[in-house]
Amino acid sequence: EPVVRVEGLRKRYGDKLALDGVDLEVHEQEVVAVLGPSGSGKSTLVRCIHQLETIEGGAIHLDGELLGYEAHRGGYRTLSENRVCVQRRRMGMVFQQFNLFPHWTVLKNIAEPAMSVHGQSRRQAEERARDLLDRVGLADKADVHPRHLSGGQQQRVAIARAVATRPRVVLFDEPTSALDPELVGEVLKVMKDLAETGMTMVVVTHEMEFARDVATRCVFMADGKVVEEAPSDQFFSAP
Ligand code: ADP
Ligand code: ADP
Repeated sequence: EPVVRVEGLRKRYGDKLALDGVDLEVHEQEVVAVLGPSGSGKSTLVRCIHQLETIEGGAIHLDGELLGYEAHRGGYRTLSENRVCVQRRRMGMVFQQFNLFPHWTVLKNIAEPAMSVHGQSRRQAEERARDLLDRVGLADKADVHPRHLSGGQQQRVAIARAVATRPRVVLFDEPTSALDPELVGEVLKVMKDLAETGMTMVVVTHEMEFARDVATRCVFMADGKVVEEAPSDQFFSAP
């Protein structure tokens, strides 16, 4: 049973078919790089998996459970917003623009979801948050507000936040695209460390070295479809 199974996924924005029948399986401990030209549907795909979008057709399963929709009297009905939240909690997501809460400290940004979402005690959640900050090299930034951090530091905090809830899979949507070039490396390093812990990851990226060296499998999208898919070593070896 894969962690994520996407079947025949279709998504439309007005007249534009952003996803035109996408199939994808992500297995435990895989790091799947989603590659392809701008506008090919990569971001839409991970946003659909994270239940940030409604879908027109197809299905997404997380650990075998149908996401967002459920069988009902021979058809499907959308889950209540509440159920969507429960399912979304089993995933982490890292956005291009970090999306940290500006009025919270770094520590609170990481600990709060684990407390409110998973009912951990403040002590437990903050202890884990400090451990995660240490792992991403920001142990001394716990009490700082995000605006005082560089983009690279903010994205490392966002990664710590995404894993604080112990998700089944972490989804990354172009995590280094908004960064100054000299800050890209420190974020990729944290992602590589995370991959080495065995975290299951789906990474939309233009970083070909990361795709080749860290991803276990590459998926290439064009015009809303997966047009090529292979283990990374095969994907990057000349035909
Ligand atoms: P990629 O991540 O590969 O650059 P996207 O998933 O962002 O591609 O976009 C796929 C297609 O859907 C593009 O044609 C894009 O213009 C369109 N699209 C994405 N988001 C929206 C939106 N919110 N409204 C309208 N069209 C959108
Ligand atoms: P344990 O769960 O026993 O503490 P691990 O050493 O595997 O064991 O790490 C705990 C969790 O911390 C991992 O499951 C992962 O979610 C997170 N983690 C580990 N390394 C990193 C890292 N470099 N960046 C962000 N999170 C990490």
